[in-house]
Amino acid sequence: MLMIKVDLITSMRCDKCRRPAVLFQRYSGLHLCREHFFADFEAKAKRTIRENRWVSRGDTIAVAFSGGKDSGALLFFLHSLLSRRKDVSLVAITVDEGIPGYRDPSRAGARARELDIPHMTVSFREAYGITVDEIVERKGGALSCTYCGVLRRHLLNAAARDAGATKLAFGFNLDDEAQTVLMNVLRGDTARLLRGTHPVPGMVPRIKPFLSIPEREVALYSFLRCGTVDTGRCPYSQNAMRAEVRQMLNAYAWNHPSARFALVNLGRELAELGAGRTGELHVCSRCGEPCGTTCRSCGILDEVSHGA
Ligand code: SF4
Ligand code: ZN
Repeated sequence: MLMIKVDLITSMRCDKCRRPAVLFQRYSGLHLCREHFFADFEAKAKRTIRENRWVSRGDTIAVAFSGGKDSGALLFFLHSLLSRRKDVSLVAITVDEGIPGYRDPSRAGARARELDIPHMTVSFREAYGITVDEIVERKGGALSCTYCGVLRRHLLNAAARDAGATKLAFGFNLDDEAQTVLMNVLRGDTARLLRGTHPVPGMVPRIKPFLSIPEREVALYSFLRCGTVDTGRCPYSQNAMRAEVRQMLNAYAWNHPSARFALVNLGRELAELGAGRTGELHVCSRCGEPCGTTCRSCGILDEVSHGA
């Protein structure tokens, strides 16, 4: 919220039309008014989709829709881009991880209905018999996001496939992606850095239209277009390595505004280099989902079901 206030409180004028600016882009040196900000934002997201050939005739796009600012902006953007096309459809999927006070699937459902987009909710409780709160109770908070992230991706993929989706869209922004690359570097995780993006049987291909847009601009777009601001934060988010990396990268990028773009480019180039060297793919004999040599979701469920 504070960040949005900083963006809006400005006496500067748009560099394109001299109307009052709502945003200063440090990396481009431009002040933009509301209309030119929308045009710039939407052009970037469309270019990312076009360059990656992420939308094709006949697609059903499942949107991972928590109801927060990033996925709210994504649902709005994809709806305005695609709702007039007869050959592409959207479905919104909300995951209820079982963290009371954080997610409200009914609000997400109401928002999807406003846009006339079919909506489904899938829950950790129903799919796995355990919630993130219960996992933290048993195992402590240190790995909450690792467990939650693996199980959520697994559930989203299964739900998207069941809904007949051909693409699974995430509202990840430039900051998220840069943090992911830096986390993999800091962990020395070569396998993840070199993991290509080619099709994997059983995995619905993922698309990230906001990949090249900074988080503060996604937040501003969400606020101005949909009135959405993130008021709640997951109580476990401070436990994650990501929180430390975010802080570090924010501090560094203040003086080096191109740092996040450089990291995302590095991640993309390494993925291209690694595209030829995928390991063998398996299907988990227990849950039937695609996986590496061992299914991480089933491994986690085994681990958490045995208590602390
Ligand atoms: Fe799950 Fe971590 Fe996100 Fe909370 S912050 S919803 S525990 S991944
Ligand atoms: Zn303008």
